[in-house]
Amino acid sequence: MTETQQQLLREIPSVDRLLRLPVTIDLMAVYGRSLALEALRAALEQTRQAIQNGLALVPANALLVQQAREWLEDLLTPTLRPVINGTGVVVHTNLGRAPLSAAALQAMQTAALGYSTLEYDLEAGERGARSVHAEALLTRLLHSEAATVVNNNAAAVLLMLSALCQGREVIISRGQLVEIGGGFRVPDVMAQSGAKLVEVGTTNRTHLRDYEAAINDKTAAILVAHHSNFKIIGFTAEPELGELAELAHAHGLPLLYDQGSGALLDTAPYGLAHEPTVPEGLAAGCDVVAFSGDKLLGGPQAGILCGRADLIARIKKHPLARAVRADKLCLSGLAATLTYYLTDTATTEIPVWRMLARSLADIGATADTWAARLQERGITAQVIDGFSTVGGGSLPGTRLPTRLVAIAQDGVDDLAARLRQQARPVIGRIQDGRFLVDPRTILPHQVEPLLQTLLRVCVPEPM
Ligand SMILES: *Cc1c(COP(=O)(O)O)cnc(C)c1O
Repeated sequence: MTETQQQLLREIPSVDRLLRLPVTIDLMAVYGRSLALEALRAALEQTRQAIQNGLALVPANALLVQQAREWLEDLLTPTLRPVINGTGVVVHTNLGRAPLSAAALQAMQTAALGYSTLEYDLEAGERGARSVHAEALLTRLLHSEAATVVNNNAAAVLLMLSALCQGREVIISRGQLVEIGGGFRVPDVMAQSGAKLVEVGTTNRTHLRDYEAAINDKTAAILVAHHSNFKIIGFTAEPELGELAELAHAHGLPLLYDQGSGALLDTAPYGLAHEPTVPEGLAAGCDVVAFSGDKLLGGPQAGILCGRADLIARIKKHPLARAVRADKLCLSGLAATLTYYLTDTATTEIPVWRMLARSLADIGATADTWAARLQERGITAQVIDGFSTVGGGSLPGTRLPTRLVAIAQDGVDDLAARLRQQARPVIGRIQDGRFLVDPRTILPHQVEPLLQTLLRVCVPEPM
C-alpha cells in the first residue's frame, strides 16, 4: 500500500462521526439504530476496499450516508415481488401458479385482518373444528362422503399413504413413477410414508393382470398417479380407473388417486385436450382422490383429499395431519374459490379459467391494440399466431392457440433482461430474435403497467 493510500484510509470518518450527522439521525429513525449502524459500517468498509483498489479520495460524509441508505433499501426490498406474466403459461409454477379470484382475495384479507371462527363454534360458544370451513363445500361440490384440506398436494399424498398404507404394500404402475418437479417424486414420497412400493408393468404398458398378480395379503392399496407433466405416446396401455377400482374392491382394497391438477371442470370445451377431473376420479370408484388447490382449481396453495368417509377419518386422525394442516388464509380463500364452482361462475370469475376460456378473437383484438400503441412510439411490434400452455403439470403437450405481441429489436436477450429488471418486471418468451408477450396471461390490472413498461424500455434510442 502506498503512503497516499494509507493517508486516505486514515481520513475515512469513524462511525461515531457519521452518527452525529442529521441525515444519519433521520436514517436511524426510519430503519432502526442497529440496522442503520450496520449499513454505515458496510459503507465505510466499502470505501476502505475501494481505496485499496485505487480510489483516490474519501467520499463526502453525505455520500457515505447515501451509500448506507441504498444498502438498507436493497436489504429491505421484498424478494417476493409481483411480476407481469407474458409467457402464456397459465399455471406457471415459478411465477406463483394460480392468481386468486376477487372473492378469494377478499376472504383471505378479511380472515387475515382480525380474529375469526377458525376453531370456534359461535352457537356453542366454545372450541370448534377448523375442518368445517371448506369441507362442507367440497363434499357438496364433489358429491364425496368426506374431504379434508392440508398445506399442499405433496403433503396430501404423503399423509394419505402414511395413514392408509404404512408398513404395507402399495401397487403402482411403472409408467406412473413420476417426478413432478420441485423435488416431488412419487417413489420418494411413498418411501417417506413407510409404505412399500410394488412396481408393476413396464414404462409404456401396464395391464390389469399386472396389478392383479401383485396383490397379496400385505397389499394396502392400489395407487394411480396422474402423469401430470409428461405424456407417453405410441405403444401404450393403462387400465381405466373404473377397471382398477373394480379390481381393488374385489380384493377389499382402496384405490387411491393422485389426480394432481385439481381440475373440477372439463378442459375440452376450451380447445384443450381432456384433462382427467376430480369428479371423474370419484365417479370411477376411486376411494380417495388427492389434488392441488392452486393449479387448475384456481385457489390458494392447498392439498385436498376427498372420498370415503372412513378413510378420510383415518387420514385426519394421523399425527402427520397436524403437521401439514391448512391455515386460516388457505381455508378462507379455498372456500371462496369453491363457492364460484357451486354457483356455476367459475369460468367467468376464477382467473385461471377465465384465461383458459378467453377467445382467440378477444386475445387477437387486445394484441392488435397493444401493438398499435407500441408502433405509435416507433417500436417494431407485430401481432403473430402462437400458443399458450396450461402449465402446472397439466395437459402436457397440448397447446392453446393464441395471438402474441412480438417486439423485434437488436439484442433481444438484453431487452428481455432489462424488462425483468423493471419496478414491475415483465417476463416474456424469446423466439426467432423477438420478445413475445401473450395477452392471455396478463391480468386486467396489469395492462397499463405492462404497456407503460414496454413503452419506456423498448423505445428505440434516438439516432
Ligand atoms: C402438482 C402435483 C403434485 C404436487 O402438488 P403440490 O400442490 O405442488 O404439492 C403431486 N402430484 C401430482 C400428480 C401433481 O400434478
